[in-house]
Amino acid sequence: MKANCWYGKNDLRVEQVPDPEILNPRDAIVKITSTAICGSDLHLYDGFIPAMEKGDILGHEFMGEVVDVGQGVKNLKVGDRVVVPFPISCGSCFFCQKKQYSLCENSNPNAVMAEKLWGHSPAGIFGYSHLVGGYAGGQAEYARVPFADVGPIKIENGFTDEQVLFLSDIFPTAYMAAEACDIQPGDTVAVWGCGPVGQLTVKSAYLLGAERVIAIDRFPDRLRMAREQGRAETLNYEEVDVYDSLMGMTGGRGPDACIDAVGMEAHGHGIQYAYDRAKQATMLETDRPIVLREAIMACRNGGTVSVPGVYGGFIDKFPMGSVMNRSLTIKTGQTHVQRYLQPLLEKIRNGEIDPSFIVTHQMPLDDAPEGYEMFKHKQDECIKVVLKP
Ligand code: NAD
Ligand code: ZN
Ligand code: ZN
Repeated sequence: MKANCWYGKNDLRVEQVPDPEILNPRDAIVKITSTAICGSDLHLYDGFIPAMEKGDILGHEFMGEVVDVGQGVKNLKVGDRVVVPFPISCGSCFFCQKKQYSLCENSNPNAVMAEKLWGHSPAGIFGYSHLVGGYAGGQAEYARVPFADVGPIKIENGFTDEQVLFLSDIFPTAYMAAEACDIQPGDTVAVWGCGPVGQLTVKSAYLLGAERVIAIDRFPDRLRMAREQGRAETLNYEEVDVYDSLMGMTGGRGPDACIDAVGMEAHGHGIQYAYDRAKQATMLETDRPIVLREAIMACRNGGTVSVPGVYGGFIDKFPMGSVMNRSLTIKTGQTHVQRYLQPLLEKIRNGEIDPSFIVTHQMPLDDAPEGYEMFKHKQDECIKVVLKP
């Protein structure tokens, strides 16, 4: 089959690789009809996530048709149309029972590696380095799906792929990020980043009852989408001081909740950005926490800082004094996608939201390397790329 393989920083190749096969009774093989490029994939493309190996197949947002099932999978059959969640979860361990699927203790065969870096291991993830299992990803013609009796959700006809594909990751991610803010009537929520995750976070914050959502980025097309599709007020951080603007918009108190939908590769300006870039380049810190610091400083006393943005390792100049003295709550995590599949499919079905509005580009899987370049550099007003194997 064809697959999009990682060969190093900024080096991807669509190659011929062996077809996946059933290895365990609870596996299924899915023939992929649509797969997307995620902001998280850019961290791999840019070489910031360790434990990648040449030839690794990327991709963790995918859907398609079941073409083979192991004997242990009773709830799926050949021909079913499914969306596959990005965390691989057994469904029965301590964490899966608590519905904390991205913390499954049975799906990362390389847990020892993750324990060295993070103290404990999270679940395995498709196409996301050997640190989280070294599983082949879904930017390919086929994928092996472990624990297929737990993860994939069956999709009836009547939806386009683009309407349901993002159940695999970014719609639940955005929703969980907004849910973590415990939004009360009258609340103002600020969202840093108007990428695909940010756009769906704006929508989710309104779905969960926010009165005002303020979205922050620097790309005019992304800000426009947040205004026109998401009803957000917007700030361009290259034109205004974000902290001062947020204080001005909230009577000097600050937003009730601040969401970092940017993560480890935040962009910025001035001395602080130069500092983080230099320290990241020399591996003295792994991540650039520019947005995280700003979100903490801007959040109102007693408010919540929610962090769907991915961080890899260690950060500098973390304003713990601000968090502690002002009673802030920080919530974060890889998304417990399985928990949100049914309720969010229901929201798509009843017309509360149609996540396909974020798709700006569709291209054949063969063009994946060009798709990454375009998405990374936000060329051609690119917001979300869907690849068609
Ligand atoms: P993206 O790269 O398209 O979007 C990031 C956006 O942040 C860009 O539009 C960029 O201009 C903006 N940005 C950069 N610096 C900024 C700053 N200083 N202030 C405001 N905006 C700034 O990526 P995406 O697909 O939207 O993903 C966003 C983040 O969410 C990534 O870190 C990704 O890894 C993470 N993510 C996490 C999960 C999870 O399970 N927690 C799932 C999916 C994605
Ligand atoms: Zn993702
Ligand atoms: Zn589990």
